[in-house]
Amino acid sequence: MMNADFDILIVGGGLVGGSLALALGDSPLRIGLVEAQTDAERQASPAGLRALALSRGTTQSLKQLGVWEAVARAAMPIRHIHVSDRGHFGKTRLHASEADVDALGHVLVARMLENAIKEQVASATNLTRLCPARILGLKSGPENMFVSLKQNGESVNVAARLCVAADGGQSTVRSLLGIEQEIRDYGQTAIVTEVHTEKPADGTAYERFTPAGPLAFLPLERHKSSVVWTMSGEDAANLLQSGEQEFTASLQQAFGYWLGRITLASRPQGHPLKLIKAGSMTDQRVILIGNAMHQIHPVAGQGFNLGLRDAAVLAERIEAQVRLGGDPGDSDFLARYASARRRDLERVIRFTDGLVRVFSSDSTPLSLARNAALIVMDRIPAAKRLLCHHAMGYGTR
Ligand SMILES: Cc1cc2nc3c(=O)[nH]c(=O)nc-3n(C[C@H](O)[C@H](O)[C@H](O)COP(=O)(O)OP(=O)(O)OC[C@H]3O[C@@H](n4cnc5c(N)ncnc54)[C@H](O)[C@@H]3O)c2cc1C
Repeated sequence: MMNADFDILIVGGGLVGGSLALALGDSPLRIGLVEAQTDAERQASPAGLRALALSRGTTQSLKQLGVWEAVARAAMPIRHIHVSDRGHFGKTRLHASEADVDALGHVLVARMLENAIKEQVASATNLTRLCPARILGLKSGPENMFVSLKQNGESVNVAARLCVAADGGQSTVRSLLGIEQEIRDYGQTAIVTEVHTEKPADGTAYERFTPAGPLAFLPLERHKSSVVWTMSGEDAANLLQSGEQEFTASLQQAFGYWLGRITLASRPQGHPLKLIKAGSMTDQRVILIGNAMHQIHPVAGQGFNLGLRDAAVLAERIEAQVRLGGDPGDSDFLARYASARRRDLERVIRFTDGLVRVFSSDSTPLSLARNAALIVMDRIPAAKRLLCHHAMGYGTR
């Protein structure tokens, strides 16, 4: 049996937990980071192939964390966004120049960011990584949280002043604490794959509304894009079972020839979509961040952007609290954090949920309204600026 003592224990070393660890790195705080997956398992996971649309706010935060330099060359700037509705005339185009910026955001394959975060975490002097390790139980005391873990088959008992749950949509911390969750099953699956394109994307991200559901092409390289195609679970299961030729033909028909002929560059993977929202952001000496708190639909590409804002705000507040001699697990401190994050969280969930309803619908009135909105949007500079603002993912911190 091993014992360990930390100021902050972060459970989950994915994109958000890893980012929080980095934000608190090289501070006087003693940080423990628990991760269930081995590095080999993570490298082999097909989920790592999903492309992330990173907002401008996110790239700024990644710069501050010292991660951006390692991934900047692989990140493709989005200079234009092209939104259209299959079978309708309306379309709108957003350009970085209209928002007076050189890029509306960037696209990066999730695994590259995970690897860069992991390498940076390894060099932080105040951080102990417990991996592969799983949390088995937790109990709060007056001054500490007591957490029991299994690391490589060995039991470890950890005491920490604050435990941060960053262990994803199926959070073990959340279920061990009995925190209720609101689950909305969209009955939809996002099919993720990569394609080679005959014509260069030239920094253009495409969002196309098809009768099956929204279809995004995000530029990865000049002639390579990442595809996220959302549709009903049943349609996705059928399509995923079809052969490569049939899949490519369906995709080509849905997307059209904006980028010429397309060919598959990776095996399509299905991700079932649910909104999972924890009933509470905090418990005694515990804070939930990232997907452990809110797993949202990827239609607007906001999940990691939102989770990174959780991590950034929490890190700033923990450092300020400790600098003033305060306890980072204090219940008033937790309540102030939750109240500071609530507005951003509700806004992003409302925006994403609204998009899913409007843009996944094939009902005639909705698709006509959507088409009209795209035409109007293309002609009104103020409306376009507002859409740019959302597309760039400026959240509130
Ligand atoms: C198809 C798709 C496309 C997306 N596109 C975008 C996009 O364009 N832009 C965007 O911002 N977001 C996007 N997202 C969302 C984004 O991927 C997530 O919001 C982000 O990965 C959440 O990070 P996280 O660290 O909170 O959770 P996760 O990435 O799920 O990480 C959780 C970590 O905790 C570990 N863990 C789990 N259980 C335990 C345990 N019991 N003990 C210890 N460790 C544990 C896991 O191994 C994992 O490493 C997309 C998601 C999908 C599915």
